[in-house]
Amino acid sequence: ATPTAIMVGTGLGAQHGILVKNAEALERAEKLGVLAVDKTGTLTEGRPEVTDVHPAPAVDRDQLLAWAAALESASGHPLARAIVAAAGRVPTAQAVDTVPGRGVRGSVEGRAVQVGSPAFLREAGVEVPTAEAEALAAQGRTLVAVAVDGRFAGLIGVADPVRSTSVAAVARLQRAGIEVVMLTGDHPATARAVAEAVGIAHFEAGVLPADKAQAVRALAAGGRRVGMAGDGINDAPALAAAEVSFAIGTGADVAVAAADITLMCSDLNGVADAVELSRATLAKIR
Ligand code: ADP
Ligand code: MG
Repeated sequence: ATPTAIMVGTGLGAQHGILVKNAEALERAEKLGVLAVDKTGTLTEGRPEVTDVHPAPAVDRDQLLAWAAALESASGHPLARAIVAAAGRVPTAQAVDTVPGRGVRGSVEGRAVQVGSPAFLREAGVEVPTAEAEALAAQGRTLVAVAVDGRFAGLIGVADPVRSTSVAAVARLQRAGIEVVMLTGDHPATARAVAEAVGIAHFEAGVLPADKAQAVRALAAGGRRVGMAGDGINDAPALAAAEVSFAIGTGADVAVAAADITLMCSDLNGVADAVELSRATLAKIR
């Protein structure tokens, strides 16, 4: 395309809340074949709330939340904010270690506490009751498991509502000939519930941040042009791996910095708008 047409397209985009950082990316958006999307904060609102607290036998409910909140107050993750908000008491934690896509561990009131995905705890040798976890996840709840001194202490279920715009936006992208694939670090049963709710047939769950980038490259292996849309720190590697990357404008600064295009409307309709803008811009030139 001529530089002038692209400049006009870029200006038009800005008026509609599509901030194009990389003009070539707007050209590449024309022939997008597949769009990888993050779940939390992209398909969902990213404003999770604690809905279920299941302490292990002999563990006090408020104590469970206090242990978890102590560690979570050091994390910027949306799940962390939900847990801190639900806790009545937030003790101070020491030696806090945050593991992206996994959770947090540290010392609280002299106990070794670990908070995060069931997989994160199992990797540390903690036995997390499977049936209880599956039942919560099947309802679309994100699971946060807690261990104290190496023993399972309880499960916290967090609900993050699907954005009201996600179903229509996914359908719009599909009508534009773009396959939508969801990539998430969440539990498979939680991922399935959300994917079904928004009309996505292909999803990958339990994906660590670095593996999201690998998944993006794998989608490109079929020769299709791959886009990625995300909002979190954990999405930055995948955004960098995509040919066209979209950041949700209300997301983390790191995601916005890594993306070619920032969407001020904060949902996937922005991606559909950008593809339409790209097609219209290039059609004018030909
Ligand atoms: P997503 O890909 O859906 O944005 P993440 O990769 O950030 O999710 O996290 C994947 C999973 O790891 C979460 O569903 C949760 O179980 C766990 N997890 C990650 N960070 C935290 C945290 N700070 N506190 C508790 N659990 C966490
Ligand atoms: Mg996210």
